[in-house]
Amino acid sequence: MTFESLGLHASVIQALTEAGYTKPTSVQEQAVPAAIEGRDLMVSSQTGSGKTAAFMLPALHKFASEPVVDQTGKTPNQEMQASRSRGDRPRFKAAQPKMLVLTPTRELALQVTSATDKYGSHMKRIKAISILGGMPYPKQMQLLAKNPEILVATPGRLIDHMESGKIDFSQLQILVLDEADRMLDMGFIDDIEKIVAATPESRQTMLFSATLDGVVGNMAKRITKNPMIIQIAGSATKHENIQQKVHFVDDLSHKNRLLDHLLRDETMDQAVVFTATKRDADNIADRLNIAGFAAAALHGDMHQGARNRTLDSLRRGQVRVLVATDVAARGIDVPAITHVFNYDLPKFPEDYVHRIGRTGRAGRNGVAVSLVNHAESMNVKRIERFTKQLIPVDVVVGFEPKKTASAPRSGQKPGGWKPGDNRSAPSKPGGRTFSKPGAPRRDGAGAGGGAGGGYKGNRTNDSSTRRSFGDR
Ligand code: AMP
Repeated sequence: MTFESLGLHASVIQALTEAGYTKPTSVQEQAVPAAIEGRDLMVSSQTGSGKTAAFMLPALHKFASEPVVDQTGKTPNQEMQASRSRGDRPRFKAAQPKMLVLTPTRELALQVTSATDKYGSHMKRIKAISILGGMPYPKQMQLLAKNPEILVATPGRLIDHMESGKIDFSQLQILVLDEADRMLDMGFIDDIEKIVAATPESRQTMLFSATLDGVVGNMAKRITKNPMIIQIAGSATKHENIQQKVHFVDDLSHKNRLLDHLLRDETMDQAVVFTATKRDADNIADRLNIAGFAAAALHGDMHQGARNRTLDSLRRGQVRVLVATDVAARGIDVPAITHVFNYDLPKFPEDYVHRIGRTGRAGRNGVAVSLVNHAESMNVKRIERFTKQLIPVDVVVGFEPKKTASAPRSGQKPGGWKPGDNRSAPSKPGGRTFSKPGAPRRDGAGAGGGAGGGYKGNRTNDSSTRRSFGDR
């Protein structure tokens, strides 16, 4: 399938060609034609699947195809001239966006805005802005005064502007809830309900979420009309392009030594290390810098400017190791991130999926390593139940944990997992732990080793059983 066959406007196709996109991803194939028809959508798809374009391309197509006329019946320029000739005094007019995208975090909002700029680069008159907490109000007022067609916003700050009369949703045509499950996890339910209630009934609503079960599914049904339900199964959801593993550690010092060792892997381009607390993010980034890594912390206590500068340095490759908390790292889309490390396991299994999705972006492969204390085995099992995948246990020679696993993990079958799936990728001594993501198996053998078993069984000194992850 091609982008042309999806029926997109020529200006959008031109931008996609320049972006180097050759064909739509699976979520785009399904969502774009339905959205162009004007249907509401409920989509379960992961970050990294191309979901931003799945909702933004049809929206841009729609705006590119319609004449630019405001409610006075005049184009904005005609209206400005008429206003000047009437001698009207300049006054603040509430922004009247045509499209609103709600995101859980500032980083994701900025990501969506920059993707919109990219996809809309050949369209005249379409402006997208981000409305975010942490950004100075005067700056946001200036942006809103430009009456942008597209607002990308985090819920809290948007409500502030709505309540002070700076935004009027009466002209809104399209509402998107991006990573809706995460917004609910973060306690935005009331804000979302309030925002939805301020938008016209006639709007088109598209909701994207990792899952459509439970509370998020119920909310999705409430705010959409006769929605088309799209479930993107398979590799995008299961992250089959990401080699996942667990390393057991005895204590913090063992964990730190192992992390240092793994970060020296020559196959690593860039990495994100996830910590449970902001303080740990700072401390570990400091420690890694002292150890000679180009590391930086990213967390919610940092000012937005500092967060943006850190993300820019990451994108430019000046930061090789980003040490981050969950919220701050959400929406990071840097294709050179080859490795994700869970220094601490996430609180919720959903976060594990979002975390590892920072690697293996845009069709590439990645590696996701969890450094786990034995007492946390149950948390690993919860993640496995959620992802329906067994995470193989690995051991690096010279970094073996003293304790053995309390309960053998061999033969475990989390729902949907079959022996032989996603087996362990054993490590090699002497500091070579991973094969290059995407590198073929050296001996061409099929997946071997224990069936994702306890780490004793997986300990081996050769690399013959590594999975092949295809081309990067
Ligand atoms: P998203 O899931 O929207 O965060 O997108 C993940 C990454 O895939 C981003 O870097 C996009 O630029 C990229 N991407 C989205 N659609 C395509 C496509 N059709 N072809 C190649 N890359 C894409």
